[in-house]
Amino acid sequence: MQIIDGKALAAKIRSEVKEETKRLQQEHDIVPGLAVVLVGDDPASHAYVKMKAKACKEVGFYSIVHEMPDTISQEEIIATIEMMNANPRIDGILVQLPLPSHIDTNRILEVIDPAKDVDGFHPYNVGRLVTKLDAFVPCTPLGVMRMFEEYGIELRGKDVCVVGASNIVGKPMAALLLNADATVTVTHIYTKDLAEHTRKADIVIVGVGVPGLIKAEMVKEGAVVIDIGINRLEDGRLVGDVDYEGVAPKCSYITPVPGGVGPMTIAMLMQNTLKAASKRIGR
Ligand code: NAD
Repeated sequence: MQIIDGKALAAKIRSEVKEETKRLQQEHDIVPGLAVVLVGDDPASHAYVKMKAKACKEVGFYSIVHEMPDTISQEEIIATIEMMNANPRIDGILVQLPLPSHIDTNRILEVIDPAKDVDGFHPYNVGRLVTKLDAFVPCTPLGVMRMFEEYGIELRGKDVCVVGASNIVGKPMAALLLNADATVTVTHIYTKDLAEHTRKADIVIVGVGVPGLIKAEMVKEGAVVIDIGINRLEDGRLVGDVDYEGVAPKCSYITPVPGGVGPMTIAMLMQNTLKAASKRIGR
């Protein structure tokens, strides 16, 4: 069994981004810029935004956080996004989710200029991803793909079970796997017999938000298991959606939580922002 070290791989990606950022600045006088919209006072959202701002600083990006109270109107959020769409110093715009319930998330995401949509949630980029055109791809599934590449895990012809079908994790994950010629099964809360699907899979990818959902008897011997879940237990521990102790001995590869997919998500956000900035010089 080999542990996929997302922390180390993410550090390597950030240092690659840092090098390229230096080159962009020296040769073209460009400093990539990321703007984050943060609405409300959800502690997890604040923690994620802080980590994103720290990563920006580390790689040499300009970054700005627009903090707004959860009483803000939809029109005011839209006005802020439109301002950033027009700001030439901003290459990437990210709206930290979830938004308060009185805000129409889909409407907000559609206002972001698709060329600055570094989270890849705009329907334009979703459509391009599905049709296998160059697109901004959501950071978490993109990070998982980079793990497969780095560890030489072949996808063509493999049976992959994706557990969880959200717009930000499961659906784009499934599209990327299909584009890589895997046979993909997508499961969710209404799936009749989850274990029946996971047990058959060469690769199981879980992003659900239920601690310990995937148990040893649900995974076949030698499977690759990718745990996207991030759950904070009452005792303060951070765990994924996989019963790691039970499942790990059966796997050929497994990601830990923390130190697996989590750090990759932020590294890919840096990579996507660099990609957006590179468009300024026609790349
Ligand atoms: P979500 O609530 O939007 O979607 C959850 C999905 O899981 C849904 O499709 C639902 O049908 C499915 N589901 C729920 N319970 C299930 C069950 N018992 N069996 C099968 N399917 C079930 O959540 P999300 O935003 O996609 O996030 C999912 C998890 O991934 C969370 O733990 C979140 O914290 C984590 N996450 C991690 C990263 C990262 O960087 N590692 C990024 C995004 C989300």
